[in-house]
Amino acid sequence: MQALRYARATSIDEAMRMLQEGGETARVLAGGTDVIVQARERRRVIGLFVDIKHIPEVMALEYDPQRGLRIGSAVPLYRVYGDANVQRVYPALRAAAHVIGGKAIQGRASLGGNLSNASPAADSIPTMMASEAVAEIAGPNGRRDVRVNEFCTGPGRNVLQPGEFVVTLRFPQPAPHTGQAWERFIPRNEMDIAVVNAACALTLSGDTVTAARIAIGAVAPTAIMVPAAAEALVGRRLTDDTIAAAGAAAKDAAIPIEDMRGTVRQRKHLADVLVQRVVRAAAEKARGN
Ligand SMILES: Cc1cc2nc3c(=O)[nH]c(=O)nc-3n(C[C@H](O)[C@H](O)[C@H](O)COP(=O)(O)OP(=O)(O)OC[C@H]3O[C@@H](n4cnc5c(N)ncnc54)[C@H](O)[C@@H]3O)c2cc1C
Repeated sequence: MQALRYARATSIDEAMRMLQEGGETARVLAGGTDVIVQARERRRVIGLFVDIKHIPEVMALEYDPQRGLRIGSAVPLYRVYGDANVQRVYPALRAAAHVIGGKAIQGRASLGGNLSNASPAADSIPTMMASEAVAEIAGPNGRRDVRVNEFCTGPGRNVLQPGEFVVTLRFPQPAPHTGQAWERFIPRNEMDIAVVNAACALTLSGDTVTAARIAIGAVAPTAIMVPAAAEALVGRRLTDDTIAAAGAAAKDAAIPIEDMRGTVRQRKHLADVLVQRVVRAAAEKARGN
């Protein structure tokens, strides 16, 4: 472990000031389940941790049927998946939050940390992308919004500028008859990094798809949206053929690496299979909403 300083921020302005004063080696500390491991293994040079878990806005979770859901960036995952509104209205987010790490990790880890760490395999990112989540960012030049699907720029890289951090993640209220689903494939039952993960948000009018958003992870340098998979569905009746076309589009869009967790061929196959599964599961939920 490298020698580093710890500072606790109690307001957004204080966190920004600490991050600016800390310079290039200052880093936000949320749950610490990624960044403390990285510091210990010296994968990142860190001079200062700025703990944001004592800032009220960053720890708030609010739902309103008109405005949708706001989750403070450092809210621990157990509060996300334990929330009755998240369970009812955003089931794909609940599903992803519920499998990240185990109980101990979920007591600390956050959606803001999962997103900002920008792992291509991060489990919450595809579901945030599919459900049109927006990151509200605070920084020296004021506040700005960035769509989650534009937030990650490469493995471990994101759009944040020096001194900036994510305050809140905002999820719009889904349209009526919308369903959301998320799945991942891992070789074990739990506590593993996704070989592939996938999420879908889908709106139905009768049996016809009127809107769809599909995202996949662990198959490219960042999680990606697959517009061609959505196009295979929108305006069409949901049949085995249209669902298969969406899966095939995901397989085409996947540009995975080969590593100890999976081959290119396996990951492309999984992108196809998982997208078909999340489309079916989202449609099932849409019929009930
Ligand atoms: C045993 C174990 C199992 C795991 N299992 C999974 C898993 O199944 N799926 C999965 O996706 N991940 C998994 N992880 C990784 C990790 O737990 C998640 O990525 C977690 O969501 C990170 O959140 P955190 O709050 O702990 O982030 P931190 O470690 O505090 O931060 C991560 C990075 O993001 C930055 N950061 C944090 N919050 C903000 C913010 N608000 N604004 C700007 N930058 C910020 C930090 O500076 C750091 O660079 C696992 C980790 C461990 C140790």
